[in-house]
Amino acid sequence: MTSGNTQNREEARLPELLQRLLLAGRSRSIPATYLFHGPRGIGKKQAALLWSRLLLCTRPGHPDNTLCPSCAQFDKFSPESMHHPDILQLSPGEGTTIPIDETRRLISELSNAPLLGSRRTAILEEAHLLTESAANSLLKTLEDPPEKTLIILVTPYPDNLLPTLLSRTVSVGFSGCTREEMEEYLAALPGHNLSSAEKNMLLLFSRGAPGQLQALRNSPQWPLFDKLPRALTHPQKGTLFDMDLLPLLSDPSGFPFLLDTMESLLLDLYRMDAGDSRTSLPVSSGLKNAVSHLKREEFHDRVLRLRTLTIHNINRSLAVEELLWDWNETLASVNDETPQSD
Ligand SMILES: [Zn+2]
Repeated sequence: MTSGNTQNREEARLPELLQRLLLAGRSRSIPATYLFHGPRGIGKKQAALLWSRLLLCTRPGHPDNTLCPSCAQFDKFSPESMHHPDILQLSPGEGTTIPIDETRRLISELSNAPLLGSRRTAILEEAHLLTESAANSLLKTLEDPPEKTLIILVTPYPDNLLPTLLSRTVSVGFSGCTREEMEEYLAALPGHNLSSAEKNMLLLFSRGAPGQLQALRNSPQWPLFDKLPRALTHPQKGTLFDMDLLPLLSDPSGFPFLLDTMESLLLDLYRMDAGDSRTSLPVSSGLKNAVSHLKREEFHDRVLRLRTLTIHNINRSLAVEELLWDWNETLASVNDETPQSD
């Protein structure tokens, strides 16, 4: 990673706003505080690290073809295990919140002069999990950050941050990759050949997020995940409860997957109503007839509500059982009268 060309290619992967700020940041000062937001697994933290690397570089482009000490330090580690004296990272780790003593420690460390790079960066992951007092403790620093610092808040749920925090940051949105980019990404992953149905499901449920795609692909539980769309679209009474799906859907990785599947299915039903037959899941007309418009809205509201609640400690197994039970009942009540056709 010594040549200027490599550096240019890396820059091109960043959102345009960050590329422009990078250019500006080499000659003058740029805002110090940012909010990186967008779906989980989309590469927000990698972007924060890459952007920091480029901004901290003391000899941009490395004209003499040797790495500056800061870039050399970045090269020693993978993004997952980054250790750089000028990169301060804070995340809830195994905890469910980021408490105030952690933010206080970060603020105090941030005021030290950079050791290797031209700046210091603080990256706060899962920033929506800052406790209210922790968030408040950050306000003053965000408003008047120490010189030569960058503070990057990272979250998939920007709406759950205090408005006072939001208003003090430059918003940088990350959107999903295109279907083509995701197909390329999937093709490059090592592993067995997938059927086209499996590929479709993987692409659908990773929602343009390469990290999500990789996590699903590598999950030993993927064969179970793959069963869910069929269980939801062809439910005989009790099918959903016969399978080993319940424990999986109640765990932290499975729960959002259930909500995604349910939401795609509901959107398919709306789409069919509008005369569009290109659905993302195999939806039968029987299923469409079974779920009235009113029921659809009710389930959609429920899915959205559960998504917001996911970030708090809710009883997931109970939520999953209730949701699947009601879905099953809704379909069964009509199936008793109308035979379901494919
Ligand atoms: Zn450098």
